[in-house]
Amino acid sequence: MRRTASCTPKAVSSSRIAWLIAAWVTWHRTAARVIDPSRATATRYSSCLSVTSFISAVYDLAKQIQLCLGIGPRDSGSKAGEHAQRSAMPSPHVVTLGTAGGPRWWDRPGAAAARSGISTAVVVGDAIYLVDAGQGAGRQLARAGLRMDQVRALFLTHLHSDHVADLTGLLLFGLFERREPDVVPLAVHGPGARGNLPPLSSHANLRPEPVAPANPTPGTAEMIELLCAAHATDLNDRIFDSLTSSPADQLAVHDIELPAGTGFDPDHTVAPPMEPIEILRDDRVLVTATLVDHPPTAPAYAFRFDTADGSVTISGDTAPCDNLVRLGRDTDLLLHEAIDLDAISVRYTDEAMRRATMEHHRRAHTTPRQAGEIATAATARALALHHLVPGDSPASSFLTASETFDGPLLIPDDLDVIEFAAGARLRTEVA
Ligand SMILES: [Zn+2]
Ligand SMILES: [Zn+2]
Repeated sequence: MRRTASCTPKAVSSSRIAWLIAAWVTWHRTAARVIDPSRATATRYSSCLSVTSFISAVYDLAKQIQLCLGIGPRDSGSKAGEHAQRSAMPSPHVVTLGTAGGPRWWDRPGAAAARSGISTAVVVGDAIYLVDAGQGAGRQLARAGLRMDQVRALFLTHLHSDHVADLTGLLLFGLFERREPDVVPLAVHGPGARGNLPPLSSHANLRPEPVAPANPTPGTAEMIELLCAAHATDLNDRIFDSLTSSPADQLAVHDIELPAGTGFDPDHTVAPPMEPIEILRDDRVLVTATLVDHPPTAPAYAFRFDTADGSVTISGDTAPCDNLVRLGRDTDLLLHEAIDLDAISVRYTDEAMRRATMEHHRRAHTTPRQAGEIATAATARALALHHLVPGDSPASSFLTASETFDGPLLIPDDLDVIEFAAGARLRTEVA
């Protein structure tokens, strides 16, 4: 597998450093097993970890120095230019448009990392398939040199705001950029309605008032209808005065339908064991999906893209989940979410909210170590962690995935390019 994340002469890509560290740890663990298989690797391994901690500290310091000098870590301009130059790249790849999870603007000045909201472009030839539309997704797509009229479909893993914050931007701005005369309607595939409000937290002292009580859990199709209705003044101005097309004519929206008999229940069984289901098949990809474990949100999906040259599996938000292992079996690249529970637990000032939210994080998300276990169980060829929470944590916070996964580990920055063709090899391009 070949990796082509960009790197300016001044600022070596932070994710590349993270990869080098992970590769170093992986090599030493392997070496420890090979050199001295009779002894437990604990001594060698713990010394590796202490050295890794040292390197991580140096890495964090280097990133702060980059920030102070104004030369990193956001080198997206060069990445966008690089990817635009490589737009004829024949090998299938993903572009990590945004790598942060959670309903926050993480890319603040002074943050250890500067990440946009979660969104990924799967690029196969001249066709683009988007997964999620987190904060800044449309602008990141433009920065990557990818054109909206190349986008064939948008897949929404679930309807949490950090995954759909820029859906409005794609509808109101992005559709304007689909100017090719023969461009087909943009397909949108996402979860259907939950059907009822989620169970009330056991930490609640009273029952809160829901938002939009008449329709508190719209699915994808209804959500897009409501977004268009909210912007009707603007849209009708343009449709009647400037003769632009209505979003209704440019979109083909589908709520994902579950087969009968899965046993899915939004309150009690959000990810019953199931075989992956086919979502889309065209001349470039076969897209399959499975239910994942992200309560109380339900349904929530992971997606897999199989191409003639390789596959990528994108977890969506989920706790460790057997369905995902099944979907990602032997995949060339697993893009999995990861949360640093220690770092996030100190962010809350309200104690009741901290208790309730941390309980949610533990039952609905995955630690880096667990993500490594999943990649190992699925025999994925490479693992990249994204949807990083907190989104301003340094990449070094997520390296513990290398303790449970021996293959290549990536902690990508925004706008990194990761090829996933079966014959591609990971390589770094340090300037
Ligand atoms: Zn999320
Ligand atoms: Zn979520």
